[in-house]
Amino acid sequence: MLYKTRSESTELLTLQVLNNRMNLSEKDKSYFLNLKKGYEGEMTFDSLTDKLELDCLILNDLLLKQNNTSFQIDSLLITPDSIYLFEVKNFEGDFYYEHDRLYKKPKTEINNPLTQLSRSDSLLRQLLQSYGYHIPIKAHVIFINPKFTLYQAPLTDSYILPTQINKYLTKLNSLHSMKINQKQLKLAEKIGSLHIVDSPFKNIPSYDFAQLQKGITCIKCHFFLTSGGARIHKFHCSECGSHEAIKDAVIRSVHEFKLLFPNHKITTNSIHEWCQVIESKKRISRILKSYFKSRGEKQWTFYE
Ligand SMILES: [Zn+2]
Repeated sequence: MLYKTRSESTELLTLQVLNNRMNLSEKDKSYFLNLKKGYEGEMTFDSLTDKLELDCLILNDLLLKQNNTSFQIDSLLITPDSIYLFEVKNFEGDFYYEHDRLYKKPKTEINNPLTQLSRSDSLLRQLLQSYGYHIPIKAHVIFINPKFTLYQAPLTDSYILPTQINKYLTKLNSLHSMKINQKQLKLAEKIGSLHIVDSPFKNIPSYDFAQLQKGITCIKCHFFLTSGGARIHKFHCSECGSHEAIKDAVIRSVHEFKLLFPNHKITTNSIHEWCQVIESKKRISRILKSYFKSRGEKQWTFYE
């Protein structure tokens, strides 16, 4: 049973919009792409744990703290007799393992996920013990990407390679016949309550309204859409062929605006400027009136 879901973080959503609308520095862009790739890998793993038949509680995407040290957990699975901790890696390409170090070919050293895993494992154990829970923790790194190859892979069961994932999950299904009870539910509740909501803005570059490209981007490929004319009710993306109702695209753009500028007022003028490709202010005003709450009056009206 899924106890805590995963969703795209505000950080990732913000970086996605900024990436569409400004030139991110190489460092910011690479951070964004890594974050996005990591999230996609985690979602792929979620779709597999979703199909598990054993009775368990799944908590995805946790940020916890023990002894003033924060640690992140991609996926946690509580069964009647154990806790499974998963670190999901969406690495792609050819890698090799040498003297306990992990390299991407030809020779770029990557942080060994086993180090991160044993750190999370230890901190989680201490955290649970501080609340009186003494449950065995089984920790694994899941290499989720089918295009990941690891030469000289260590003979450790902490690493689960792409070709081993299905076998591992099948084995997991067969291991536990007991049902979860109040004790495990209480534990899940405890861990869920300790989850920290992190500041989403620490890795976001600075930006302002004037500097960002205005317009409405395609929902699928993020290409900037061109005006469909006043009578047209749908946008058609010339890049990927997607269609979207104009009102939906405007509502989506208002949410992007809110995400980037939580302190700016949403007004007909600001959204007209933000969307750019909707010529008629009346049309913007109609959409705002129908889908957002209005505050103030006449020319002072704004929306929430
Ligand atoms: Zn498109």
